[in-house]
Order: sequence, then structure tokens, then C-alpha cells
Amino acid sequence: MGDATGEIVLKGVGVTPGVAHGPAFLLTTEDVRVVERDIAEEEIPREIARFEEALIETRRQLHDIQQRVEKAMDAERASIFDAHLLVVDDRSLVEEVIRGLHTSRRNVESVLRSVSERYSAALAGLDDEYLRERAADVRDVARRILRNLAGHSSSLLAHLREPCIVIANDLAPSDTATLDTSKVIGFATDLGSATSHTAIMARALEIPAVVGLHDASTRISQGDPLLVDGSKGLVILRPSAQTLERYGQAERLRRGVRDQLDRLRDTPAETLDGYRVTLAANIELPHDVEAVLRHGAEGVGLFRSEFLFLSRERAPDELEQARAYEQVAHRLAPATVIIRTLDIGGDKFVSSLKTPSELNPFLGWRAIRFCLAQPEIFATQLRGILRASAHRNVKIMYPMISNADEVLQANRILERAKEDLRRENADFDENIEVGAMIEVPSAALTAHLIAPHVRFFSIGTNDLIQYTMAADRVNERITYLYEPTHPAILRLIRHVIEVAHDTGLWTGVCGEMAGQPALAPLLVGLGVDELSMSPNLVPLVKGMLRRMRLTDLEELAANALTSESAAAILERCRALARAAAPEICDMVE
Ligand code: PEP
Ligand code: MG
Repeated sequence: MGDATGEIVLKGVGVTPGVAHGPAFLLTTEDVRVVERDIAEEEIPREIARFEEALIETRRQLHDIQQRVEKAMDAERASIFDAHLLVVDDRSLVEEVIRGLHTSRRNVESVLRSVSERYSAALAGLDDEYLRERAADVRDVARRILRNLAGHSSSLLAHLREPCIVIANDLAPSDTATLDTSKVIGFATDLGSATSHTAIMARALEIPAVVGLHDASTRISQGDPLLVDGSKGLVILRPSAQTLERYGQAERLRRGVRDQLDRLRDTPAETLDGYRVTLAANIELPHDVEAVLRHGAEGVGLFRSEFLFLSRERAPDELEQARAYEQVAHRLAPATVIIRTLDIGGDKFVSSLKTPSELNPFLGWRAIRFCLAQPEIFATQLRGILRASAHRNVKIMYPMISNADEVLQANRILERAKEDLRRENADFDENIEVGAMIEVPSAALTAHLIAPHVRFFSIGTNDLIQYTMAADRVNERITYLYEPTHPAILRLIRHVIEVAHDTGLWTGVCGEMAGQPALAPLLVGLGVDELSMSPNLVPLVKGMLRRMRLTDLEELAANALTSESAAAILERCRALARAAAPEICDMVE
């Protein structure tokens, strides 16, 4: 939408409340891949290690593609990749790059680029047709290695000099996790939805962000002045003076509301008629614990431990993991910290763990499925968590449980991990509580079969909605199907809570739904015991619940369970929230 002042408003999905104003930094795919810079002598061993890792990864990918092509097409076409593999294994090329690191003192990306260009130019100039064709192979393979190097390094985003708004077609959760928040004041992407892990990271970093804009990266140019409204999901290109003035006023009001809510930091989330709910926080990295304290959350309801594994060349070992978990547990004791075991796959890939690329990653080798197939990796993590449990405030939960048998298998590996620590006389919590995430419909419907093997449930609505509605949570074309108030979702949630309460368990919700000020009250009405959300949403949800009565929330829930329309339920939730705290609604809508 354009107007006479030349401003253009692009509409997407807002993921973090707040506004950012600054120049665009356009991230093209090529930019992400190649960052060239000078290096110091002591960086050379690290550059060599990155190069070797990237070569191993490239070789693995080429084998993978070769096998797939062979299966899908024929052996002849697959043999193209023999030539590519020869390039990766060409010692003279590899050695020349290593020599170049020493002589040029440039990073491996720039050395590899100049060496491969020299090679391919020399091959292209030869008389022999076969050898001339190899020039293209060298270029292809070099491009692939460069791409893998980008996966192992800080990308261009790590070298920003001025505060800016990053515009990209897409950002991986690992890119987002490493954003320098002093430079990246906002971001917007063409792809993605509000529950993608990129959006979740933006919320954790408290960066105003909009996703699912479809074509923003082609409409915005480098340096364009932008305003990102993460509450309404708008990106305003070349904002007019009036728009900036309007946003300036709104921002001042918003800050006033924030200040008031911050004063509730040490008060409980208690309704007007005296019903208390626990409000915990979701974190991705140990340093997020400061935000947990700052925003007054009563512990951590979900520590997404896999973020410790992203953006690095080697997986953290047992002691490094133990230190990270202990840092959080110690800082928050006696408040509870629930550490979710590794949930990789889906939209989170860990290069060091060598997960294969799959056609349907969200339905594939993800989370507990990966861990049960890799018991050594799993046991290492469980020992790391146990070592951090000395303060007796750590709990464990397993992600993406589909049936009771997975819980039993995981518990057996946990028992073996305890045995290992007993042999060492290490101090740990023998009675550490274990919970199951309920995020697959089969687990929700058979919660009674899972209940005997755990102490609590935590409902992951992000995935529960994705799997119930068969709607990929990161696909911006089908966000309309992503309906937390769909009767099917509410019935599943209610069923899980009923089973839990009948069997003496408590139930939390740790999906993004729990942090929505209009929807959290509905969850409380349905009987949820704990809500866990991005730390900066805790004051908003608390402020909302403190203005409501449990009796009204129970009525809202009872009505929702008999309603046939997701839209009607959402409307009622919004109306109740607006009547109770309009200023909080304005912060997020
Ligand atoms: C969920 O699925 O709701 C959840 C909390 O886990 P994640 O978003 O990390 O998949
Ligand atoms: Mg999940």
C-alpha cells in the first residue's frame, strides 16, 4: 500500500511487540555465504579447522545427493558427483588454500574463492573438452564449501557497524540466535510465521520483528529508511514525518504501560478472586536468565537446550552442558528450571550432529526420535542435566513424545545416566522430576497411558497445532490454519489437563499461545497450572490475569468447549481481554 508521501506499508505477521526505526540492511543469500576479511596469525588454526569441517560436510552432502540421484534417476547422472567428490578430495587444492591462509592472512572464504577461481580459469582455458568441463565442477564445489563455511561461522551479520533493520528472504534460527542486538534493532523476513523458531528467538532477544511478508526482500533496497511495527506486523518503507510522529507518541504511551507493568514484578499472577497461576519463562541460552529475573518470571518452564548446539562446529560435551545448565539453575534457585532435552530437526539443524536432510523434517527424525536413536548423545546430555541438579530445582522434559514407549525408553537411558554418576559419587537429584511434552495428537489422546511414567505434562501448542491441523508452522501461506482456538485444539488441551489432574500430575503450556494476553486467560479457565512464555511477555500476561476473575475465565472456557467456531472463541477471548486491560491489548494487537 503506497501514499502521496511515498511511504509504502507492507503487511506480515508481527512476532515481537515493539517498534524499530532505522536503515535497511539487506541480506541476500550470496551475502550470507561469503564474508571476506583479514585475520590475525592466531586465527589461522581456527580457519583451518573450519575449512576441514566444511570439507567433511561437503563430502557428506555430495554422497547424500549422489545416492538420492542414483535412486531417483540413474547411475550415469549420479556419476557427475564423482567429479565433484574428486574436487573435494583434491589435496593440491586443499593444500593451496592452507598455504594461502598463511601467506595472505585473509579468512578461508577469501582464500578459497581466489584459489578456486584460479583453478577454474586455468581449466576453462585448456583444449581438452573433458578438462574444460571440470572448471564448472570446481566452481560448484567451491560454492558449496563456501555455503557450508557460512554455516560454521558468524555470517555478515556478525560484522555490522551501524544499528540497522535486517531484511532477508529467511533467517535460520541459528542466524537469529547469534544476532548482535546492539546493531540489529529489528528484522523482517519474507518467509516464516509467528511460531517458527526464528520468531521465537526474536521474542527472546526482544527485537521488534515481522515475518511472512512474502516479498519484502525484493521491494526494499539497501539503506532504505524503515519502520518495523512488531505488534501490528507492519513494515513501513520510507515512513513519512506524520507516521514517525504518530509512532513516537504511541511508543511513549507503550513505555508508560511497560513501566506500570514492571512494577508488578514481585507480585504473583493472581486473579481478582484469588486464584494463582505460575508464570514461568521460556529460554534458549543461559544468558536469557537475566531477562527471566528482570521480568519477574517464577522460574523456567522451557529451556530449549538445543540452542546450545546451534552455530558451532562441535557439540558441547557433558561438562560444558552441565556448566550451562548449572549457571541457570544456580541463578534461579530455588525457582524451578525445566530443561527440555535436545529438540533438533524440524526447523533446527545442528551441523555438528550430522542430521540428514529429509523431505518432511517436521515429521521426521526430530527431538526424542533422534535422541533414542543416538543414545550416547542423549545420555551425555542427561548426565549434564543431572550434574546441574544439585540445587534440587531442575526438572527434565522430553520433546515430541508420540507414545508411552518412547517415555519408557528415555527413562531407561536416564536411569543408566544416574548409575554412571553414582559410580562417580557425583551429587545430583535422585528424584529429579521427568515430564513429557504433549505436542503430538497421539500423545494428547493417550495421555492416560503416558501419565504413569512422568510427573508432569507440558503442552507444546506450537507443535500440537501444527500436527493437529496438518499445517507446517513455518509456512507463511497457511498461517490462517494456525488457530489456537480451533475446537479440536481446545478439546485436546482440556483432555490432557483432565487426565493430568485425575492422575495427580500438573500441566503447563509452553507454546506461544501461553504468552498471548488474550489467550492465556482461556488456558487458565481450561485448568492449566503453569504458563511458560518468552520472558518479556510475562508482565503483560500477569497484568491481564490480575484484572480478571477465575469464574469468568471458567465460563469463557466452558463456552469455548461448546462453540463450533475458532473465530467466535477468539473474538470472545479478545473482548474479555479488552474489557479488562485495553492498554495491554494495544501493546500486542
Ligand atoms: C511447542 O511446540 O509448543 C514448544 C514449546 O516447543 P518448540 O516451539 O520449541 O517446538
Ligand atoms: Mg515443540
